[in-house]
Amino acid sequence: MTAFNPVLLSLGGNLGETEAHFRQAQKLLSEQGFRILKVSAVHHSHAVGCEPGAPDFLNIAILGEWDGTPDELLALTQRIEAVEGRPNDHLKGRSRTLDIDIVLMGSLISTEPRLLVPHPRFQDRGFVLVPSAEIAPDMSVPGTGKTIRDFLARLPADRE
Ligand code: AMP
Repeated sequence: MTAFNPVLLSLGGNLGETEAHFRQAQKLLSEQGFRILKVSAVHHSHAVGCEPGAPDFLNIAILGEWDGTPDELLALTQRIEAVEGRPNDHLKGRSRTLDIDIVLMGSLISTEPRLLVPHPRFQDRGFVLVPSAEIAPDMSVPGTGKTIRDFLARLPADRE
């Protein structure tokens, strides 16, 4: 176990066959050396902050291990997003086939805009916290002294 493990990923999508994109993402992650330990159930959430009339999102969390660097994992997740049909010039706040966020990487705290870990805003997002708490409730969030379960307990009811 390195300082960068375990890794918690959040996947979401609201266009096309999202569950097929999730399955394909898991296959590609595994093939590229990301060891998947646990996958949450598929959760549904409303498309908040997207274009009007955007379809609901599906979300899952994945717990795993990665032997490479954080940048290598970011590059891999971005390649998978692209393969699964997400354009490079994707605009923020738009519907998408697949979004992969790195939520936590062991004790890593990264403040570079290219890779912010812990992922900013995870603590405000039920669609990240609920699936994450299902598979990794006791995972600690570096720099906070708190676990995923603690953050879920503090989430306002209207964000769940
Ligand atoms: P989004 O459209 O929300 O998926 O944001 C993608 C951008 O966020 C990319 O430019 C990434 O380099 C950047 N980013 C910063 N921190 C992270 C993270 N923890 N996981 C994934 N992308 C990140």
